[in-house]
Amino acid sequence: MLLITCPHCGARPEIEFRYGGEAHVARPADPATLDDAAWAEFLYMRSNPKGWHAERWRHEHGCGRFFNAIRHTVSDRIVVTYRAGEARPDLATIPGLDTP
Ligand SMILES: [Zn+2]
Repeated sequence: MLLITCPHCGARPEIEFRYGGEAHVARPADPATLDDAAWAEFLYMRSNPKGWHAERWRHEHGCGRFFNAIRHTVSDRIVVTYRAGEARPDLATIPGLDTP
């Protein structure tokens, strides 16, 4: 079982959390001007990397808040979590990212 550290509550078992998709996907600045292809791009297209990925998570059975995590998509290892609204940490400054 994974232990995920909620930035508000601390480490908790993974069953308390729900995955919320890719983090830092910005809403269009002027949605009324988007055509169907641009809406499809915003709604459905994600990076889906094999490696480190910034993701949104929700502590559904805890504080209920959204936060972000940097997780390796192969090993499920999470190296950092941070509050929603905070900037994505510079991956070069996080130790241990060279190993999944
Ligand atoms: Zn929490």
